[in-house]
Parts: sequence; C-alpha cells; structure tokens
Amino acid sequence: MLGQMMDIPLSISTLIVHADRYHGDTEIVSRMVEGPSADNGRDIVKGIHRYTYRDAHRRARKLANVIRANGVEFGDRVATLAWNGYRHFELYYGISGIGAVMHTVNPRLHPEQVAWIVNHAEDKLMFFDLTFAPVVEKIAALCPTVKAWIAMCDRKHMPSIKVDNLLCYEDVLESASDSFDWPVFDERSAACLCYTSGTTGNPKGVLYSHRSTLLHAMASIQPDVFGMSGRETVLPIVPMFHVNAWGIAYSAPMVGAKLVFPGPGLDGASVCELFEQEQVTLSAGVPTVWLGVLQYLQQSGKKPTSLKRMVCGGSAVPPALMRSYEQDYGIKIHQAWGMTEMSPLGTYGSLKKKHDALSPEEQFAIEVKQGRAIYGVDLKIVDGEGNELPRDGKVSGDLLVRGQWIIDSYFRLEKSPLVDGWFPTGDVGTLDPDGYLQITDRSKDVIKSGGEWISSIDLENLAMSHPAVAMAAVIGVYHPKWDERPLLVVVKKPGTELTAAELIKFYDGKIAKWWTPDDVQFIDALPLGATGKVQKNKLREHYKDYKLPGA
Ligand code: AMP
Repeated sequence: MLGQMMDIPLSISTLIVHADRYHGDTEIVSRMVEGPSADNGRDIVKGIHRYTYRDAHRRARKLANVIRANGVEFGDRVATLAWNGYRHFELYYGISGIGAVMHTVNPRLHPEQVAWIVNHAEDKLMFFDLTFAPVVEKIAALCPTVKAWIAMCDRKHMPSIKVDNLLCYEDVLESASDSFDWPVFDERSAACLCYTSGTTGNPKGVLYSHRSTLLHAMASIQPDVFGMSGRETVLPIVPMFHVNAWGIAYSAPMVGAKLVFPGPGLDGASVCELFEQEQVTLSAGVPTVWLGVLQYLQQSGKKPTSLKRMVCGGSAVPPALMRSYEQDYGIKIHQAWGMTEMSPLGTYGSLKKKHDALSPEEQFAIEVKQGRAIYGVDLKIVDGEGNELPRDGKVSGDLLVRGQWIIDSYFRLEKSPLVDGWFPTGDVGTLDPDGYLQITDRSKDVIKSGGEWISSIDLENLAMSHPAVAMAAVIGVYHPKWDERPLLVVVKKPGTELTAAELIKFYDGKIAKWWTPDDVQFIDALPLGATGKVQKNKLREHYKDYKLPGA
C-alpha cells in the first residue's frame, strides 16, 4: 500500500520560487566583476550590485527563455566559467530550472583542460565572466558543440575578443520576457555537472540530480551542520564553480538567508571589507583562504564585528588556525569533510550535549576532527581485504561512504566506482564510537615507513602550530632502508627566522620519535591546485630524487 501524500518532485526551481514568495525582499549583494568603478545605477557603493531574491527570480525566468531560445533542450549541458556573483546565481536557477544541466567549469584549470571538459560534456552554451574572456578566446575554436558564448556583462563592458557567436548577457536578458512557468519533471533528472579536479588522468564528471541537490541542501542547513536560518548573512568564498559552493547557492534561498557574493575579490582585504559592510555572520572556504584572511587581520589589526562562524574544509584544517580565530577573534571554525562525489558534504564538526561536561581542551580535541556523519551519509572504514574495522577512534582504514547525495557512477563512464554499494573515498581515517571521523591522509599521501604508516596531516598540523610557519606540507621520499621517510616542506612567515634543525626539534615529545620528519626544505610558495589545495603530486615530482640526510 502506498502512502497517500502529495507526490511533488524535489526540484531546484522550487527554491527560487519559495525565496521569491516568502523572502522576496531579502538581499543578494555581489562584488561586481566589472571592477570598482562599475556603476549599476542602484547601489550607493560603486562596484557593488544589490538586489533581492524577487529580482533574481525575475531574471532567472528571463534567462530560462533566453536559454530555450538558443536551442537548449531538456538534459542539454550549459556551461559557466564564473566567480561567485548574482549572474552566476541566476544561471543556477535559469539552467537547471528548465531541466537543462548546469555545468560549472573550474576557470583555474589550464585552458586545454577547460576545452577537454567542455567537449566531454558537449556543452551547448557557455556563459563567462569578463575575467575569463582570454580563456574563451583561446578555447572557442576547439569547442565545436558550443553554439554561443555569452559574456556576463552589459554592452559597455563587452570584451574585445575574436569569438564567433559572442553575445552580451544584459542585452539578451533585456529583450527576453520574464514570463515563464517552471516545468515539472522527474526529480532524478540531472541538474548540475562538476568535474573532479583529479590529480592524475582525465577529470571525471559528477552529475548531480535535482533530488540529490535538494536533499543535500536540506541536510546542510540543520542546526548541527551549517545551522543556517533566515536571520543569517552568508558569504560563500568557496566557489560556485566547484561543487556548487558546498550547496550554499541552494541552502540560502531555502532558508531566506541574505547572500553576499565576493566576485573575484578573494584576498583578505576584499573579503574583510564585505564582512563588515554587509555584516556577514557565516562564511565558508578552504584552509588556504582562511590563512590568507588571518594574515590580513593580523597585519591590519582589524577585527570582524559580525562574523561568528566559519565553515572550513576541502583539506585538513590546521588546529593552530582554529585556535587563532577562536582566541583572537571569537570566531568558531567548524570543520567539514566531503568530496565532489558527495555533493560535497559528508561530515561536520559540532559537539554533542554530553561534551558540555568536558574541559575546553578536551572539546577542542573533538573539534579538530573532521566531524560526524550528517544524516543521509553513512561511513565505514575497512582493511585491505574490505573487512570492516572497529569504530574505536584508533584503528585507521580506507573510508567508504554511501547516501542519497553520493555518486553512483561518473558521467559517461561505464564502470561504477562502487564496491558492494559503497563509494571508496580514497581517504584513510579513524571513526570513533560517537561517529567522529578523523582523516589521517589521502591513501596516496600516506607515508609508508618500514611497513608502518605515518600520517602526513598530523605532521603538517604540528608544523603549522610553530609561530614562524605559514604553510607546511609533508611528503614521503625514497629511503633505501625504510622505503619512505617524511620530508617537511615549509613556507616561512615573512620576516621570521627558522632553521631546519629548530623545526625538527619542535616535534620532540609531541609525536612518536620515528614519525619525526627526516629533513626540512624551505620554499617561497607551495604549489596550489585549482581548488586551493596543496598539490602534493607536484611536490613529490619535484623532490623525487631528493637524498635524505643519512640515507
Ligand atoms: P574534492 O573532490 O576536490 O573536493 O576533494 C575531496 C578530498 O579533499 C577528500 O577526499 C579529502 O581527501 C580532502 N578533504 C576534504 N575535506 C577535508 C577535511 N576537512 N580534512 C581532510 N581532508 C579533506
């Protein structure tokens, strides 16, 4: 017997309809890509665009008409190459709302990779921010499926590039009707496509559905997760071009939170200016971004007045970073763990009631973990033979996940990555009896010394707690006796003095002696990938013939 309740499909268009109807006057504020002098005719602050969910919905309907008029049909892919901003937000709804697939392309990739991805997805249209006009000029001739290239600006700012079928976003919107009824279709239909930043081989496409996107957004707003409400002002630094800004472009309209988009201004000064100007209460980004913001705050002596919580994830969050924000600025960092293949949220760091009885240090020891499973995601760790390992917080193993917003198979790849219905994450970690996950490494980053494993993340976190260290990465390098030994690669804070011997001594008593890095290399900057993560494969390549002392 079936239940007798309404069977209304979960669809992305319902979010913007809801936000328009029930939070119609809530603001969306964006730093404009056109630059600080761009006058939008409305806001008193130049270079800042300000409108409401109602306005965004109206323009998303116009966009839906434009996209259809350009020959896009149900299931077709439409690409974006854009920063976090109001036009990108409109595209999120205009494209998915008609049943087409919004394909967010990471503009930090090499143009050749961008072209490869666009061709693999067979994108029909490409919307791009002005910053990426040079990329478009390079790839246009290589992407035959793209029928039109639409510059996200007004006529005045059109880029002078030689590209066939170049259109102006504001022009095409201007002439389009704002009358559009969002179609109703199967909630399992594809809504958005994002390619993994994969360090080896070709990128792989993750195809989210309307259902997975809505369920993920609903889960993310819970009090123990982002804790998002209509009283919040949210600034996603995490890009809309990578895993949908961790769902914030969907969860904010769901609760009616004010949205603030940083555009291309991701440096500490620009971000902090928006925090203050718009009185932001919640923000989200990867550790490298928060390190940059922290350096700016320390150098400028400024203190955010409204910001209370930050979500941080994408790579391990150094405990020293969490401590600095909490102690010096009263801002709590919550660690999140997930993947492109997981929409991306899997776990979130928040305490339980019973933890009230713990000392601040004991609480901190829990908060530095990657968090506990969000309802909708199940986790387990297994040994090399696939046998489940105990959840005792000690034994570490390969981490597997399953859930309603987790990948089943990659776009246009036949072989499913699943193992008995579980997705192998490629991460290694422990699970404790309360379900808190601690990632010790990516399986390929683990250092295998004399048959035992050393966690590169633990060594990096310790290095990062040294006052003279700005960034640190640990890789395994060849050792004739132990196979691999840890090499610590460090970027010093400007104006500090530090020797390799001092840093190695710093590990004394903090870690098992045999885990101590064998050597330290100081460099000017760590190689960062397209999503702000340290590219350890590049470091490994660079140091592949490195001779450790005593080796
Ligand atoms: P991506 O698909 O590019 O978002 O990368 C996902 C990978 O980033 C995960 O498999 C982890 O290796 C890593 N990652 C994400 N969040 C965290 C975190 N909080 N701590 C440690 N590693 C993380």
